[in-house]
Amino acid sequence: MTIATTNPVNGQVLKTYEAMSDEQVDDAIERTHLAYRQLRGTTIEQRGRWLTAAADLLEAERDETARLMTTEMGKTLAAAKAEVTKCATACRFYADRAAGFLADEPADAAAVAATRAFVRYQPIGPVLAVMPWNFPLWQVLRFAAPALMAGNTGLLKHASNVPQTALLLEGLFRRAGFPEGAFTTLLVGSEAVDRILSDPRVRAATLTGSEVAGRSIAQIAGRELKKTVLELGGSDPFVVMPSADVELAAQVAATARCQNNGQSCIAAKRFIVHNDVYDAFAEAFAHRMAALRLGDPMDDDTDVGPLASERGRNEIDAQVRDAVDKGATVLCGGEKPTGAGWFYPPTVVTDLDPGMRMWSEEVFGPVAGLYRAASYEEAIELANGTAFGLGSNAWTRDPEEQQRFAADLDAGAVFVNGMTTSYPELPFGGVKNSGYGRELSAQGMREFCNIKTVWVGEGTAGVGAGAHSE
Ligand code: NAP
Repeated sequence: MTIATTNPVNGQVLKTYEAMSDEQVDDAIERTHLAYRQLRGTTIEQRGRWLTAAADLLEAERDETARLMTTEMGKTLAAAKAEVTKCATACRFYADRAAGFLADEPADAAAVAATRAFVRYQPIGPVLAVMPWNFPLWQVLRFAAPALMAGNTGLLKHASNVPQTALLLEGLFRRAGFPEGAFTTLLVGSEAVDRILSDPRVRAATLTGSEVAGRSIAQIAGRELKKTVLELGGSDPFVVMPSADVELAAQVAATARCQNNGQSCIAAKRFIVHNDVYDAFAEAFAHRMAALRLGDPMDDDTDVGPLASERGRNEIDAQVRDAVDKGATVLCGGEKPTGAGWFYPPTVVTDLDPGMRMWSEEVFGPVAGLYRAASYEEAIELANGTAFGLGSNAWTRDPEEQQRFAADLDAGAVFVNGMTTSYPELPFGGVKNSGYGRELSAQGMREFCNIKTVWVGEGTAGVGAGAHSE
């Protein structure tokens, strides 16, 4: 794959890069290995000062950074600015909270026949991060901020269509004060991942991306016995029950489906609506979707910009064509525009059945599948009837039903009367084919820690002197 910035608005190639050679990659791995030895010897307070400096830089340079992201992958400028701000917030969160998350946890010393026993969180070494283009700053930051605070170092293999954002990230951490090699961008294609992850100096990997890439990395990591966190695709359900505020649900549904031009792993993708409110919701939702303005992502009035690649647009168009050919109904959108740029209009498709691609596949663009459910049980069956399990949404004002959805939805997150989003304070990740492991919160930070048991005996005959072994 070519490593290049190509503007999705017009398909113009703006900048191309040579992939790094094996020797250059080896040098980078050696530098990150050496930086790890240095970083783990620094204090949390020092690392916190560097991460706070990174937050300051992000905020000061928000507009230029946002323009770069919009140019590389087509998200609206407003969304790009919000992404930069969110990254700064996450940096500050980990700078402030890491000491608490990594503090020694005392255990019951008497129960384990020790004088002292506790759990200590320590770094594990250089971590390879294979990242996608859809939130080109945020996906990387949500890994890098906790990893660096824990004392790990990062090697970034970013998506091949966002090389300038990838290089910006390396520069950001360096300018913020982190030692040389603490965070390094590798300009390489996906074929280089096997060799990098097989290197003994690289201790773990995190991937945010497709199921295919997840399987590939998990196989390599399995062979090499290395820890992985996988954040993969999703086909999140958005269930609307009779007690919901249908107008509000329809409004949020359109945002949830079309934010980031429909290219979000946690976008609501399947809208499952109870019979009693189906017609009202379908009308309001199609109306809201059709009203979204498709256009130049640099314009303030644009709601939905182009898809990031021609391949991505062809894929969703093929999924819609497949459904229509097999009898589905299009309520709005559904036609690939002619002309420059990889635009696709907000689209609602209904009358879907299990023989259609949209039923079982993730749709990575502004296309919603609308489903009808006769009961709570049928809604749950449809919602969970997918290979994915990332986020989920349920709209109901019935407190008992809210509890039932929280228990019954088979996903990494349940958002009731709101759309799925991520916060540094809450763990983020999936079940089933959406991957495993968690990012964000204390849980995310500890994924790449050695959770070390420390047991201290008296050192005299008697208490705890090697009672039994496994
Ligand atoms: P992708 O093709 O899997 O690419 C993601 C990253 O993986 C890129 O850096 C890519 O490199 C690399 N890659 C691709 N195939 C690989 C392989 N066989 N071995 C090693 N690395 C490989 O994903 P995408 O289509 O660009 O992104 C969209 C997908 O990401 C969707 O499924 C979406 O739901 C998912 N996603 C998940 C989350 C989450 O948090 N769960 C968040 C965002 C996106 P190249 O660019 O060089 O090919």
